[in-house]
Amino acid sequence: MITSDYLLKAIDRDKQVRVTIAHSTGLVEEARRRHNTSATASAALGRVLTAALIMGSDLKNKKDALTLRVNGDGSAGPIVASVDSVGNGRAFISNPGADLPSRYPGKLAVGELVGKGGYLEVIKDTGLKQPFVGRVNLVSGEIAEDLSSYFLLSEQIPALVSLGVLVNPDLSIKAAGGLIIQAMPGADDVILEKIENNVLQMDSISVVMSCSSDLESVLADIMGDIAYDVIAERPLAFKCTCGRERLATILANLTQEELEETIEQTGKLEVSCNFCGEVYQFSKQEIMDKKTKALD
Ligand SMILES: [Zn+2]
Repeated sequence: MITSDYLLKAIDRDKQVRVTIAHSTGLVEEARRRHNTSATASAALGRVLTAALIMGSDLKNKKDALTLRVNGDGSAGPIVASVDSVGNGRAFISNPGADLPSRYPGKLAVGELVGKGGYLEVIKDTGLKQPFVGRVNLVSGEIAEDLSSYFLLSEQIPALVSLGVLVNPDLSIKAAGGLIIQAMPGADDVILEKIENNVLQMDSISVVMSCSSDLESVLADIMGDIAYDVIAERPLAFKCTCGRERLATILANLTQEELEETIEQTGKLEVSCNFCGEVYQFSKQEIMDKKTKALD
C-alpha cells in the first residue's frame, strides 16, 4: 500500500520529550528510481534522507536548510541529503551500484556498505554568515546509531534514533520511515525510559511502516500512557532545487577552450544533477549567449 509520505511531531504535556516520526516510503522509492540503487544502497540512502527530513522539521525559518553528510570508508562512498524546512528533500549516494550480501536474513548490510571509519556531518544554514557545522566520528555506519552519537556529542541532546527501509525482491521500496526521540533540557529519566521501553516493544520501524502508514497510531504506541500534543504535521516529498538556469551557469563558467573540448569529446553539452539525476542539455549558442550576458 503506497500512501503519501508525511511527518508527525509531538511533545509530552510536561515538555520533556519531543518525538518526530516520518513515513517516507514514496520518496525513498523515488530516490531509488532516480539513482538506480542496489538494495543495500537504497537502505543506506533512504535512512540518510529520512533522518535529514526529520531533522529539517526542527528548522525555524522557511528559508533555512539542512545538509546531512555521511562520509564512511565503505564502498558506498559519501551519502548526502539536503532538505528544506517545509518537508522537501533530495539525496544521493556516491556509488549507487555498490552492494554487499546480507549476513543475517532480512537485514541489509548497511553498516558495512557505509563503513564505520569516517564521519557524519550536519550543516544548518539559517541565513547567518557562517552556517552551523557539527561533525562526529561514525559509530557503526548504520546511520541511526551514528546520529544518536551526533545529537549527544554535538548538540548535547540524548536522543533515540530509529531508521528503516524494507526492500522488495524486485528492488522497489516496500516501506521506509524513521523516528527521532529527543530529550528536552532537564528531562526526567523516568519518562525517557518509559518511552524507550515502549519503542523496544514495537517491531522495527521499517516493519511498523510496512504494516501501517497511520502515524497517529504509531505515536500512540510510542507514548503509551504519557499525555502528549501533536505540534506539527506536514507532507514530505523528494524534491530537487536544480533547474536549467542553475546548471547552465556551470557550463557558462567554463572557458571557451573547455567548452569546445567538451563538445568535441562528447558531441553535446550536457550536465546532470548529482542530487536527482536529471539531465539537462544545452546548445552551444545557449551557453555562448549566457557567457556574453555574464560579461555585460
Ligand atoms: Zn536535481
